[in-house]
Order: sequence, then C-alpha cells, then structure tokens
Amino acid sequence: MAIRVVVQRNQQSIVPIRFYRAVANDPPDQNSDPVRDAPAVDDRGFEMGTRPASWGSSDAHGAMVAIQKGDTIKIKILRTDIDDDADLYVTSTNTSVITIASPNNGGPIPKNGANKNIFQITGVEDKRKTPVKVEVRYDSTTGPVIGELEPHIYQPVNLSVAFHIVSIRGTAPAKTAADAQTMLDYANDIWRPCGIQFTFNSAQHFYNETIRQHPTNANRSQYRRRTTGKWSNLPYNFDRAGYVTDDDRWTPAQGGQWRESDMIESVNPANVSINFYWSHNSASYDSAGTRTDSSWNGLSGVGMPRRGGLHLVESAGKYDLGHEIGHFLSLNHSDDDNAGTETDNKDIWLLRRLMYSLWPPDSPDYKKNVGYGDKQYGALISVKKMPGKYQNNDGELARGRRHARKIN
Ligand SMILES: [Zn+2]
Repeated sequence: MAIRVVVQRNQQSIVPIRFYRAVANDPPDQNSDPVRDAPAVDDRGFEMGTRPASWGSSDAHGAMVAIQKGDTIKIKILRTDIDDDADLYVTSTNTSVITIASPNNGGPIPKNGANKNIFQITGVEDKRKTPVKVEVRYDSTTGPVIGELEPHIYQPVNLSVAFHIVSIRGTAPAKTAADAQTMLDYANDIWRPCGIQFTFNSAQHFYNETIRQHPTNANRSQYRRRTTGKWSNLPYNFDRAGYVTDDDRWTPAQGGQWRESDMIESVNPANVSINFYWSHNSASYDSAGTRTDSSWNGLSGVGMPRRGGLHLVESAGKYDLGHEIGHFLSLNHSDDDNAGTETDNKDIWLLRRLMYSLWPPDSPDYKKNVGYGDKQYGALISVKKMPGKYQNNDGELARGRRHARKIN
C-alpha cells in the first residue's frame, strides 16, 4: 500500500514502527505482567525531555529504555506502518555501550515463530556522558533508519530487605517466607532494568512479630522484643484486630493520622535497607468518621513522617510492592501535578506508569487495559522527564536511583 506524505516545514520524520516490551500479547489484546528481561519501553512521544547531566544524550528521536549493566533484554517491534514481510535489521551506534545480542549480525529480525519481531540488546557498560542509539533499518544493516531507541545502562545497586509478618491483637496474615520471596520477585521483575535489585535472606530476615493489647491499660498496645522476648509498650492502642488503621481525626497530639503504621515501624526493625511489614488488612476513617475497609494494599509515605518501613496487606497484588518501593525511593504518584495535588488524570501516559495513584477506569476499553490486564495500572518507571504539568513526578528512574544509592 502506498502512503501519501505531505512534507511540512521542509522536514518530516516518518516512523513506521513502535518499540514495545517483548511480551506474548501485542496491543490491543494485551494482558501481560512485567517480565524481567522484557522491560517496559518509555515510548512517550518523540521528544526526549530533560536528561540528567551525567547521561549521554544521543540525537535519537524516539523511545528510551533502561538496562542493568551486563543484562540482555528483549524488545519487540510493532509494525504499525510497514509490511509484515519487510526485512528489518538492528544496529548499535556504540558497541562499547550496547551490543546487538540477536538476531545474528543484526538481522533480519524474525518475522515469525516465538521471536517474531523481537531483537535483543546487551548493556555492556554504564558510561557517563556516552551517547548511544539503537537503530532499526530497512533491508540491511546499512539501509535507511526507520526507528530509533536510546538505551541507558545502569550499574546495579543492591538493597537488602527484611519481611515482618505482623500479628495484631491475635490476627496475622497467612504468609510464609516463600510468599515473601514471590512478592519480592515481582518487584525485582519491575525494578531490574533500572539497576535496582532487592535481596532477601529468608533464613536471616524473615520474622513473625506480635502486637497485643496492654494487659492493664486499654489505651496502649505492646510488642514483643525479638532480642529479649519481653513486651514493650507502644504509645497508643491498635484499633482493630488484624488491621492497620489510619484516621483523619487523630490530631498530631494523638499521634496523627498514621500513628498505627508509625507504631508498626518501631517493631524490631532489622538492620537492612528496607523493612517490609505485612499485616492482615487496612482501614481508614475520614474526617466525618466514615470507615473504609481495605483502604490500601500497601503503604509507604513520601513526605509522611516515617522511619523507613513499608507496609503490605494480605491481599496485596503483584504490582503493589513495586509501587510502594517507588514511594520509598522518593517517587510520588504519576498523576500528582507539579503542585503535589493528585489530579486523578486518566490519560494513558499516566495510567501506564507503576506510580499511578488509583486504578484505570471502567471504560473505555483502551484505558481500562493499558497492557497489564483488566483495570491494572502499568509498570513503566519513566526514563524520560517530559516537560509540563506533571514534570516534577516524571524522570522516575533517575530520582529512584539517586535515592537508592543514598540508602544502600
Ligand atoms: Zn501510591
């Protein structure tokens, strides 16, 4: 099919492909969880945004993707405006930074089979200020460039974690060390391309914690100290068995809205980078005293007065720990505007992000499923920092890494 092109202002770029994470299902039949070696591609437009000073800036106009140093990742090409039979090749502009791992000699990229439209690149070195482009070319490795990708390579930062399974007044979540590892694996799938990894030694850092009511003082709870086995007083009582409750009506003098999650974070924290506290459930009271059960699946404050713990409830899903880790690494919600106000903007480029605040809408379908399943927000950690109303919360990878290096 011929395409008629009217060139504007003496120049026009025609980009007949898109770069997409190499999962089984293509849009619009998408339904794929994050895969460790098939990272989400930041394909938000052809502007490159503001890169941190230490990054290399190529003259690419296209997507960006993150790779941990030494990793080989898969990327899929979506042929949006080019024939399925066209032979496509892939090249790197700097093989000391990025090499093409497959197909052999750059192509052609497979047109059928399990690796249909998939190529692989290896992040060789995390070099400062060294630009690199991956180019997809038509017909040969020297043919015209029809799509550009700018990868960034990251030295791994390792964060050690502990899991605390918390029984509150007799009710604990039914979670084992194997469940903790599974949950952490999901988070590692999501964060790996950013070069941030979480390691859990279940023999050393898996704990069962107990909180009970004070035997004589109804206004206080107690927790059992791991070192001595003795009970220590907490400043307030836990409202409900099994629940971590927050309450808008609790004044600063009463410990503030988040006093129960604050109290949990003082329960035997281990000397690791992140302590995860896992309880049965959560509940919130608003200022009118109306209660919502299961008000959050996970909790980790940005700007909340916390000691450095992170919370999960029993029903937390595959994306929840990764999202809370994002908060822990100083990220706010993708739909928080520059003034810090949550806008509940359901634009797709916000919904596709790991740090989206809520859930995708019931309709239309293309917003309801942005690639990760029915009403599931995405797992993209933004590589680009795009200008505009949400720029303070964009560029998540650079900010997350800065914070991870600080607490490492
Ligand atoms: Zn959140």
